[in-house]
Amino acid sequence: MQILTKNDFQSDARMPGNEGNSSDELRILRDLLRLLPSGVTVQDERGEFLMVNEAAAAQMQLAANSGQPSQIDNRHETCLELLRNGEPVVLEEAVTCGASKHVYLTSHRPVQIAGRNLVISASADITEQKAFEDQLFRSAYYDELTGLPTRRVIEHRVNSLINHDDAQGQFALAFLDLDNFKHINDYYGHTIGDALLVEFSKRLGLSLRETDILSRISGDEFLLLLNPIGGDHEVIEFIRTVQGRLKAPFFIEESEIFASTSIGVSLYPQHGRSYEALRQNADIAMYRVKNLGKGSAAFFDASMEREALARMKVEQSLRLAILEKRFCCAFQAKVDIRTQEVKGIEALVRLRDGDGVIQAPGTFINLAVELGLIDELTHVVLADIVKSIDLINETFGPNATISINVAARQAGNLEFMRSFARAIEETGFPRRFMIEVTEDAFVAKSHFQDHILPILRKIGVGISIDDFGSGYSSLSALADITADEIKIDRSFITDIHKRPRSQGILRAIESLSEALGMTVIAEGIESHEELAYLQAATKIRYAQGYYFAKPIFLEDMKSAPPLTSESRASMAARPAQETRVAYSRASGYRR
Ligand code: C2E
Ligand code: MG
Ligand code: MG
Repeated sequence: MQILTKNDFQSDARMPGNEGNSSDELRILRDLLRLLPSGVTVQDERGEFLMVNEAAAAQMQLAANSGQPSQIDNRHETCLELLRNGEPVVLEEAVTCGASKHVYLTSHRPVQIAGRNLVISASADITEQKAFEDQLFRSAYYDELTGLPTRRVIEHRVNSLINHDDAQGQFALAFLDLDNFKHINDYYGHTIGDALLVEFSKRLGLSLRETDILSRISGDEFLLLLNPIGGDHEVIEFIRTVQGRLKAPFFIEESEIFASTSIGVSLYPQHGRSYEALRQNADIAMYRVKNLGKGSAAFFDASMEREALARMKVEQSLRLAILEKRFCCAFQAKVDIRTQEVKGIEALVRLRDGDGVIQAPGTFINLAVELGLIDELTHVVLADIVKSIDLINETFGPNATISINVAARQAGNLEFMRSFARAIEETGFPRRFMIEVTEDAFVAKSHFQDHILPILRKIGVGISIDDFGSGYSSLSALADITADEIKIDRSFITDIHKRPRSQGILRAIESLSEALGMTVIAEGIESHEELAYLQAATKIRYAQGYYFAKPIFLEDMKSAPPLTSESRASMAARPAQETRVAYSRASGYRR
């Protein structure tokens, strides 16, 4: 029998016992042992190695090379210990060699063979499994981008604070959401967006105490536990400091980025006695801040809960309305202010609620966008138009263009725009359609220009920039988008005859649009004075507004009594009412 020392690990598997007696079986067993991927060793009463197979030799060689030869000494001690108390054990052993770390799981078992007390050990290399587990652990508890703890960590901490509460501890949970992060991402790209999140979390974490926890719970949402707190005033003071810090510009890859943050705060125990309730109420408070104009902070209060409940009801009814297709369109004419002819119409969606009451889009469009229901709704609008096309032609003429509004988020969504373009093409009259998008859609100008526009151009659909002047973009952005039409927001048109500043802006938009070959439409004309100003002082040809016609339902047109010459004359004396409008294909709009 040959005894191995720690300098002699490369040798073949050797069996204890009489070598000279080796039968075929023994040889097979020995080869098998040698080739086993698991490290197998046998140690004697003194802890010396009697047998070391190839895998075990490699493992020990690694330990010898690692500068931690103590591992082999440890094996001696483990062996002697095992022999003393006779119990098997399973141990995890780590060997670090340079940058690489190997982990082995080794089971040691004391045995008696041929009257001798030996220890046999088998180890498996679990390095990969260990790395995978570590990775799983890290991703469950730490956010990869910012390195902050995840939702689970803060949830666990809050729960344990509540469970061990001695009815005295007070803490606060703040829900923070970066405003317009999507715009920032679209405009600067994801790399800068990510870098902003990292910088943002650093600034947020600056003055936290050991007992506070900041965690990133999703995209641009953070949750902050302030624990303990002495009262509201402490939280207010802290939030004020944080907001001041977050308002300063971020310098990322030579861009100067301004970010604002909406913050909602709930307090324990007044605003909830579970993590879920506290988080939800902080979220509700944050949502209120967003609705009131973003960029500030609010504590939760009961009125917000009522608001959130009401919102949930609207959400339910909206989902139901979509399921039941309870939407219809009102149509408003775009009129040539020089000839009174109808150039086109705009479809404005309406919701018939459960009680048959008609709701204007202001009450549900944003929610539909938020809930991801807007795409379906837009397809319903198109279907309604197709269904009514004969009546549309009869009322407004077969050449009137038909405009459909598309939300900014949809306009940048390639998948939706493709499917919508396909549906428009399938109507058989795609060239009559125009799509109205607000400037917000052009935050990612080049994406829209390069990927979305060609889809629409291919089937002959026109593009209109809606509510121009009320959104984010600037005049210079116009130059980058090859749109067909620009609709000047009502806020510039109201009382235009009395407002020199608006007149100046109008002139600028007008000359730019002319240079770029875009048709200008003035939105929201309500008075004769406004119209008179446009006719006298500008070259604008088209307008839309209550002065000419409110949005109308085509069924109402059908049921209206035919116009006599007197009724025409009397209508001419006053602005059009919601459904009392008359059009003639030949002479255009009659008032
Ligand atoms: P918009 O596209 O700018 O449509 C014009 C809005 O101004 C319409 O309101 C119209 O009724 C109103 N309006 C027209 N002339 C006048 C006027 O002289 N004075 C005043 N005060 N208002 C006037 P409505 O129908 O309530 O629609 C509001 C907004 O909802 C629309 O603004 C559009 O952005 C959105 N919307 C409407 N239908 C759809 C749709 O199918 N999809 C999407 N995504 N958005 C839609
Ligand atoms: Mg519009
Ligand atoms: Mg508009």
